[in-house]
Amino acid sequence: MSVFYPKLYIDGFGDLDIPALKARGIDGMVLDIDNTLVPYHVPTPTPEVIAFVEELKQNGISAVIASNNTGERVELFAKALGVFAIHKAGKPLPGGLLKCAKTMGVHRKHTAVIGDQIFTDVLGANLCGMYSILVKPLPSAENNFFKVKRYFERIILKQMKKRDEKHAAD
Ligand SMILES: [Mg+2]
Repeated sequence: MSVFYPKLYIDGFGDLDIPALKARGIDGMVLDIDNTLVPYHVPTPTPEVIAFVEELKQNGISAVIASNNTGERVELFAKALGVFAIHKAGKPLPGGLLKCAKTMGVHRKHTAVIGDQIFTDVLGANLCGMYSILVKPLPSAENNFFKVKRYFERIILKQMKKRDEKHAAD
């Protein structure tokens, strides 16, 4: 199951210790948009998102966007941030994420992926040998398909917690 486990699980992108990430060898970061940086209905980056990407750059971490959403949504967002972006990235398939690393000129092992979904962002990162960071999804109105996915995500997170508790006890 470990392919579904994030390397890091935090409440939101604002909680990320960026200097610590750089210190552990991360030189590039692939960003998910929807429910990670902003909720679905927010079309452009908030000041917090702009500050986050700025802090990444200041710490020597390149940033690109890989979203499974459509071109229109992704382009508008990426343009406002001034970063390269791939839309319909096909996460969890490795193609889009590997292209992101290549664009940044960063080895996949020095690339992190931040996202809110285990079955796209985390799985994709882990399949590529990238550092997977899971955030709690920002509140959005979600359809039934998402509700089912969230149900299975909770099962995986429970199993991961059990594993961590077992490790702590060993
Ligand atoms: Mg998302």
